[in-house]
Amino acid sequence: MVRAIVGANFGDEGKGKITDMMADQADIVVRFQGGANAGHTIINKYGKFALHLLPSGSFHQRVDNIIGPGVALDLTELIAETEMLENSGVPSPNLFISSRAQLLMECHIMLDTLEEARLKDRKFGSTKSGIAPFYSDKATKTGIMVCHLFDKDVLNDRLKSNFERKNVLMKYLYNAEPFDADEYTEKYYALGQKIKDMVIDTTPYLNQAFKNGKEILLEGQLGALRDPDHGIFPYTTSSSPLAGYASVGAGLPPYAIEEIIAVSKAYTSSVGTGVFPSQIFGDEAEELRRRGGDSGEYGAKTGRPRDVGWFDAVATRYGCTVQGATKVALTNLDVMSYLDEIPVCVQYDLDGKKIDDFPVTPELQRVKPIYHTLPGWKTDIRGIKRFEDLPENCRKYIDFIEQQIKVPVRILSNGPKRDEVILRED
Ligand code: GDP
Repeated sequence: MVRAIVGANFGDEGKGKITDMMADQADIVVRFQGGANAGHTIINKYGKFALHLLPSGSFHQRVDNIIGPGVALDLTELIAETEMLENSGVPSPNLFISSRAQLLMECHIMLDTLEEARLKDRKFGSTKSGIAPFYSDKATKTGIMVCHLFDKDVLNDRLKSNFERKNVLMKYLYNAEPFDADEYTEKYYALGQKIKDMVIDTTPYLNQAFKNGKEILLEGQLGALRDPDHGIFPYTTSSSPLAGYASVGAGLPPYAIEEIIAVSKAYTSSVGTGVFPSQIFGDEAEELRRRGGDSGEYGAKTGRPRDVGWFDAVATRYGCTVQGATKVALTNLDVMSYLDEIPVCVQYDLDGKKIDDFPVTPELQRVKPIYHTLPGWKTDIRGIKRFEDLPENCRKYIDFIEQQIKVPVRILSNGPKRDEVILRED
């Protein structure tokens, strides 16, 4: 069976934990888009890790982990991450890299950083990992594929033509040093040699595995509201984090994906620039930020404090719709245990009119949240294993969210560790 595990909101929903937990039953875990621009936090018997590029099945010996064709592959990051696992005593993951994946190189990171600096207060909140310049190269067909790494002449030719336009920007827009194709050829050829043994055409491999009925997890990065077509454009990312794209970025037929698990926190968090109607501020926000996640709500990639706020049913319902969610995993439920009352944003007020649908960004910037407040449960719920054993007000909170978003909430996460999870019957 093929399952996609994707974000229902702005990212950081806890997909890494859910994927790591589900990878126990999986044969293959595939990353299908994005690059090292986000972090999936995983806490298991080996320790605490923030994986940026390696699939979250990397801690399971029987799992094959695949970097699919849709990924923005930063080889320096990938190698550093693999070494970090090795140094922490984690057995080497079974890793396969698609020969069709394209390379995110130092020049992309440099351009991303220079562009954010140039934009000043108009910046998009990029993590400066090179993602937008990388996907621009893919769109203009000047990118470098993994398969180009193994022939120096081919690599050099492609780099030379890739740098023609970039170096005009470097000189005249950014007033910076140009990129040198020969230097890049040597560097990336050497990196290619390091990963050579892991490179295969993953597409026939995956399709055969699908035909053989293997358990395959497609692991999304970021969340639905960062999708360039459906999200809060322009405060989006450059590749699609939607389950619909998972078939493309991984290389499987669309009908292969039977289950789509949209992950959402029991409150909302967002890192980077953007619009976030249910955001809270001041002491109230500081308390939620401090208690959130496994050690406060700070970006796994950047360390930036995340904006936090109440659960937004309008945004999550929309996120689940564009993901095509068949079930929801609600994480960080334990974080809410300190609250006397818990507001849930159920509608937006747009210029005096109540709306239920998630609007386009300029309208979203004007909306005010309309809240329905539920009583809190004021009991620690960590360690609870069965839905029936949760406090009544906690069950009511989950049921209320389920009614609001219209997708069954079947996985509940009540702590950051792998086994802190409650599975509800279908
Ligand atoms: P991802 O990118 O979607 O995998 O999410 P991140 O790892 O960036 O952020 C999720 C945060 O929530 C991390 O700090 C996790 O350790 C933490 N987390 C996940 N599930 C739970 C949970 O049920 N309870 C608590 N307290 N933290 C959780």
